[in-house]
Amino acid sequence: MQFNVAQLLKEPIGATRTYQLDENLTGLDPELIALSPLTGTLQLLRTHSGVLGTGRFDVTVQMDCGRCLEPIAAQVEAIFEESFRPLTEVTTGRYLLPDEFEGEEEELEDSALIIDEHHILDISEVLRQSIWLCMPMIPRCPYAQPEECPNFAERLSAMDESDEDLADDDDQPAVDPRWAALLALQKNSAEEKINQ
Ligand SMILES: [Zn+2]
Repeated sequence: MQFNVAQLLKEPIGATRTYQLDENLTGLDPELIALSPLTGTLQLLRTHSGVLGTGRFDVTVQMDCGRCLEPIAAQVEAIFEESFRPLTEVTTGRYLLPDEFEGEEEELEDSALIIDEHHILDISEVLRQSIWLCMPMIPRCPYAQPEECPNFAERLSAMDESDEDLADDDDQPAVDPRWAALLALQKNSAEEKINQ
């Protein structure tokens, strides 16, 4: 997702470019499972310090349901607005000194926001971060009520069963599992003695 902004940088402040994107996100982030291409609009605006990139994109990603923990498809609207700064002066190719930069300090230090010496502006890292930020906090499967979700019902009944197992154990004196094997040995040797 790279854009050559050499021409835009030569234009006056306020000049814009608009791009319609339809991108395959394979390889963007190994942790991110995109189930659809990313689609949306990127606008690049020439500012006094560089280029302001504004993006609004839709993508479907795989997440785990916060209730039943099953994988689901979550719609994400990734939105960002970031200032990218040129590493070099477009007309001369001269590297710009940090104190010549007129934007915010954090924009100066963030390598994801640098327009390289070939005047390439790469939105990949900004986009990757914005997808993570715009993901739902607690994704849900499409069932409105927990009792409608078959996966949740299954999980609940599994929990009930393990609760019952625990309740059954309460009838027996508690045995430290580390002693259980020794107790079994002791019992066996006692039985052997009786049999002799
Ligand atoms: Zn669910």
